[in-house]
Amino acid sequence: MVLTFLVMLAFLAYAILTEIEGGQEPEFRVAGDCTGCRRPVEPEWLLCPRCRTLLRENCADCDRSTATYHAFCPWCGRKRKEKAA
Ligand SMILES: [Zn+2]
Ligand SMILES: [Zn+2]
Repeated sequence: MVLTFLVMLAFLAYAILTEIEGGQEPEFRVAGDCTGCRRPVEPEWLLCPRCRTLLRENCADCDRSTATYHAFCPWCGRKRKEKAA
């Protein structure tokens, strides 16, 4: 009887542990790197706080705010103009 209880308890503990491990994935923010200093930046930021590089600008096609570290506009797919190329 006690053994059954222990086995069940172990199973429960294992289930809880795997549950916790599964839920412990760090929240992965979709952010990019600053085009100026290559440091990670938050997607909402307008300017890099380290080197003050502009991180967001409006797409030339759809005029929606897009991050400058994106190669393409996420809204309309327009290729962003290459810098210094
Ligand atoms: Zn920067
Ligand atoms: Zn666009």
